[in-house]
Amino acid sequence: MPAIEQYFPHDYREARHAFIAAAEANDLGVTSRLHPAENGADGKPLFLDTATIGERDAKTALLLISGTHGVEGYFGSGVQTGLLREGLAQRAAKGTKIVLLHALNPFGFSWDRRVNEDNADINRNFADFANPPRNPAYDELADAIALSDLSPGTMKAANAKLRAYSDKYGAFKLQEAISTGQYHHPGGIYFGGARESWSHRMLQDVFREELKGVKTLIAIDFHTGLGEHGAAEMITEDLPGSAAYKRAKTMWGDALQSSEAGESVSPPLQGTVDKAVAHWMKGRELTFAALEVGTRSTRDVFNALRRDNWLHLNAKPNDPDWARVKQEIRDAFYPDTADWKHSVWNHAAKAVDAALAAIA
Ligand SMILES: [Zn+2]
Repeated sequence: MPAIEQYFPHDYREARHAFIAAAEANDLGVTSRLHPAENGADGKPLFLDTATIGERDAKTALLLISGTHGVEGYFGSGVQTGLLREGLAQRAAKGTKIVLLHALNPFGFSWDRRVNEDNADINRNFADFANPPRNPAYDELADAIALSDLSPGTMKAANAKLRAYSDKYGAFKLQEAISTGQYHHPGGIYFGGARESWSHRMLQDVFREELKGVKTLIAIDFHTGLGEHGAAEMITEDLPGSAAYKRAKTMWGDALQSSEAGESVSPPLQGTVDKAVAHWMKGRELTFAALEVGTRSTRDVFNALRRDNWLHLNAKPNDPDWARVKQEIRDAFYPDTADWKHSVWNHAAKAVDAALAAIA
């Protein structure tokens, strides 16, 4: 059996090939949804891939999602491939199935971006686009959040404005203003998009095709970038006291934190995958959590996102800043070290074990 860290890929293409190979080694078919408009950083096509373990018409399912935030897919993909290599295909109890969704946002994964081809954050993209939510705090800070250039002077002036806001309202309010989601600054960060993205439509298609008829669903969406380095939270949007929260608490114990109740490292968010899935599963039993693992400081992650945002709006891959900024954002969401991989692998394996025990 290979060491855990070997399950973690070096890029999207390798991740996809490893996932498909691991599925095929277990006699699992893979369904590939081709992105109709975009290619990867290597010039080749992009796909959202799914593999299903167990009975296709099972009424109880576990769904594991990677790459909602593109570059965060190194983690989720490594976990999916590793679990397949370590016997996940033998672990679906009778009457249950396990659906692995690989690279919900393959563009972001391939280009080392958190967002998709339209600068949209897939985990804010399930909003009502006829009447998108307002984020007045973001509006106020928009020109300080997104950088007009990469010079130290611009960064300094922008940070002074953000610091003044943080001094007045607190650091968590600043984080909320920035990251809760916004729909009026397409050139900004945490932009929820102006329309349903391809990833949005494909996720809905996976629910129609692979999860049709499921009455009880546990879903884990793998994320990185928030919290202490190598630490983990199972983030739920359900409130303490609700049945879904109680089920999640029984499964994941102290790791469970509600973003809606202010328990989590994440503020409450708009237009999330969680909210979309809850809508599609209405009247049926859903337990959803984002497994969020920490990488670097909030400031490092934020600054990497700002520079990457500037880069993709203003530069091309031959730009002198390109390689440095791309390395910075990759590092911000994927600390490529054995220690980190072991730590986050253990969190993920534990979360999946608990979910499998709950549906067995
Ligand atoms: Zn994320």
